[in-house]
Amino acid sequence: MMLGLCAIVLYQSRRDALDRTRETSHNVALIAERDIERNFELYGLSLQAVVDGLHRPDVMALPLHLRRLLLFDRAATAKYLESMLVLDESGNIVIDSASDVPRKRNFADRKYFTVQRDNPNVGLYISDPFRSRLHDGAPSIVLSRRLSHLDGSFAGAVVIAIDLEYFHNLFAGLSLGSHGSVALIGRDGIMIMRQPYDPHIIGRDITGASTFQHFVAAQEGSFSDTASIDGVRRLYSFKNFPHLPLIIMVAAAEQDIYAAWRQRALTIGTLMLGFGFGFVVLSAVLGAQLRRRMRAESELQLLARTDDLTGLHNRRTLGEILDSEWRRARRTRTVFSLLFVDIDRFKAYNDAYGHLAGDEALAAVARCIGETIRRPADSAARYGGEEFIVVLPDTAAAGASLIAEKIRLAISELGIEHANSEYGRITASIGATSWQPEQNSDVTAVIKAADEALYIAKTMGRNRVSSS
Ligand code: GH3
Ligand code: MG
Ligand code: MG
Repeated sequence: MMLGLCAIVLYQSRRDALDRTRETSHNVALIAERDIERNFELYGLSLQAVVDGLHRPDVMALPLHLRRLLLFDRAATAKYLESMLVLDESGNIVIDSASDVPRKRNFADRKYFTVQRDNPNVGLYISDPFRSRLHDGAPSIVLSRRLSHLDGSFAGAVVIAIDLEYFHNLFAGLSLGSHGSVALIGRDGIMIMRQPYDPHIIGRDITGASTFQHFVAAQEGSFSDTASIDGVRRLYSFKNFPHLPLIIMVAAAEQDIYAAWRQRALTIGTLMLGFGFGFVVLSAVLGAQLRRRMRAESELQLLARTDDLTGLHNRRTLGEILDSEWRRARRTRTVFSLLFVDIDRFKAYNDAYGHLAGDEALAAVARCIGETIRRPADSAARYGGEEFIVVLPDTAAAGASLIAEKIRLAISELGIEHANSEYGRITASIGATSWQPEQNSDVTAVIKAADEALYIAKTMGRNRVSSS
């Protein structure tokens, strides 16, 4: 049970670690998403301002440097904003945020240009990452908007180029564990930025990755999977941007999530296993000791209750038996019988065969008495010397005489040689008495009566039963 409880607690703390990570990842994704959305909203507004300005003849009539200041305002100098350009319908720069005289470049081949040219209703377009021609190949993305003539035909595009360093710096500050990862992915499956940063991963198409299937299957969520990029198993939390075709993904490596838990589980598990083992061993030792003690106690009790030479009840036990049987007989108004057995001429036997042989004969006679009485209620005890008392509860005089006779015969049939006896073998005389308890309230009177009957049996020639 202890180990079971420990396992449950450890399992729960493992799940807690996972839940905590999931929550943290979700929060990180949410904050990053809001930061990016807010910035892109501002970029979008700047683009819209340029589009609106271009439609105003008074703005277009201004001197070049004033027109540039008005169209691009201070947003053009924001950090990570590489340049804002107005391109004509053939992709050449016509207005440049960086200088009054536009740099001579053509972008007719770029997708952010062709998409706007070929589709009038794209609106704000976010490009895949590419290496900037204007900024020494710096990884960038572009936000573009279409310019149209009054008749709706293509007039060019306004574009903002953003340095991917923005995302890089945003992600670099996040603490996600040593194997954690965070990524911004286009909804078309193109990797825009990933932490840990590797320039080769930027722009990679991950539509084939199993993780990407999860990203596009739901608006947001979390799942566990192995990354196709580095083979590390992670818990992914992802969120599709509500207003942009982007997905933010925050992933914590399982080895980081469970590192602290694993350490704790190892310590607690080892300790509990040790305690459990100690407990079992201690219990076993204690149990064995207790059983030994109980055995010794019952042996002692038996010894205290039995006569060690004959194995029958001793005098003290006889006292208890007589007491309880006497009371029972009084209560149930039944007849209560008692036999007094005395071996004949035993002193002579001792003299002839020695005390040791006398002891053996005594034990044999006792065994014989014990085997002859069969009812569980009957009991035999050594009263003293070579005298025995047999208690026969709920037994009338006739029955008692019958049992007495059986005992007498059985002792005689043992056939123990006794040369100095008139019968040539060991015999016993038995005095039997039966009482209705109401006649007398003291059990000693019964013993006395049996003893008197025995005396009669002796005087009548021994080896016989006498009843009173
Ligand atoms: P009877 O009863 O026939 O009149 O003659 P008896 O010789 O048996 O007389 P009594 O009952 O008075 O003698 C008891 C004798 O039993 C005395 C003793 O020598 C012997 N005896 C008593 N206890 C023991 C014992 O534990 N071991 C041995 N070997 N002998 C015992
Ligand atoms: Mg005697
Ligand atoms: Mg005797």
